[in-house]
Amino acid sequence: MVVPRIVTGSGVMLGMIRSGSAQTRTDLVTRLGWSRVTVSKRLDELLDANLIVTTGQRDSTGGRRAEVFELNRNAGLLLSADIGGSHSRVGVSDLSSNILVEAEVDIDIATGLDRVLTWAHEVYGHLLRTLERKASEVVGIGVGVPGPVDPGTGRLMNPPIMPGWDGVLVADYFRERYPDAVVAVDRDVNIMALGEQRFAWPEVDTFALVKLGLGVGSALILSGNAAHGELGAAGDLGHIRHGGSELCRCGSRGCLEATASGWAIRRELKSLGYSVNTSRDIVALAREGNEDALRLLADMCTQVGHSIADIVGLYNPGVVAIGGNLATLGDLVLNPLKAAVMERIPSYLIDRFVLAPSRLDRRAGTMGASILAQDAVLDPDRVSRITRILV
Ligand SMILES: [Zn+2]
Repeated sequence: MVVPRIVTGSGVMLGMIRSGSAQTRTDLVTRLGWSRVTVSKRLDELLDANLIVTTGQRDSTGGRRAEVFELNRNAGLLLSADIGGSHSRVGVSDLSSNILVEAEVDIDIATGLDRVLTWAHEVYGHLLRTLERKASEVVGIGVGVPGPVDPGTGRLMNPPIMPGWDGVLVADYFRERYPDAVVAVDRDVNIMALGEQRFAWPEVDTFALVKLGLGVGSALILSGNAAHGELGAAGDLGHIRHGGSELCRCGSRGCLEATASGWAIRRELKSLGYSVNTSRDIVALAREGNEDALRLLADMCTQVGHSIADIVGLYNPGVVAIGGNLATLGDLVLNPLKAAVMERIPSYLIDRFVLAPSRLDRRAGTMGASILAQDAVLDPDRVSRITRILV
């Protein structure tokens, strides 16, 4: 069910201020179509709640200098976690998602939820002490997990690489420690795409990100937000049936990931007698010029590129960014991917199609998780309700 927004609340105005689309009284009156009195009242609410600050003055068109409003980045701390299959990364940021300090560790998710989250909690405590800040200053927590999350309930949905995590409400683990913080959880590739689009491609309204590691993950950003679909699986190419009968780690056969991915390359290289374990091992072989690795990578790019063409045909993204360890091979991966996409997309899109390497690279996940937390804390209806109570 779609719940209507509080359309004249302070939260709507804060959204404009923090996106930078309107930051003076005059711009806000023009963009929102509200009276000057209403705009002033809402600005007072946001100032009283300490959510915005004035940051100086700007010349307006009439020659008078106008006050400029900005999000108060010091109004609270955000915690972010990018939990991966074999590697996790956490960070602490200010309210504008500027990361203040980060930490990472190689930890296998199959060892269990408790172990991964216990590590995260210990590190958060350490990072907060490093910053000389208190847990009570944490207002929001964003978490990325390697599997679909039901957008209605926040529960994990049959995560293929996380045994024992099905139906788990990850937010509960954080609420125990930070009872006053807002917690938001999403699929790892969704948060990478969110971070990449907001920080690196803010001018692109329709955006896609494909992560090439051992797995193949992808996500869509539509109008600045990750597309989820009904069950949290929107935008993910990896487990669409692609053909063939290879068993996928999700339990099905013939998924794209089973036939064209780091997993598939590893399987083929092992059958040829190579000792490879991680996507970094595949990258190392390719960098040495190993012909088997290069041939398998080229084949993967052709197949993944054809699947990307489906996203391009359906959603017409302004940019498709490529991240993950295999993308560190640069043009070796990007060029054949691009060629494969071009073979399949409608001809009128060819000149406008942009495929580019991820600009944030390994930091996209923690930065995106921080944005996820920021969006949840500053949700327009939540802000409108909170500031009305305070006034
Ligand atoms: Zn699968």
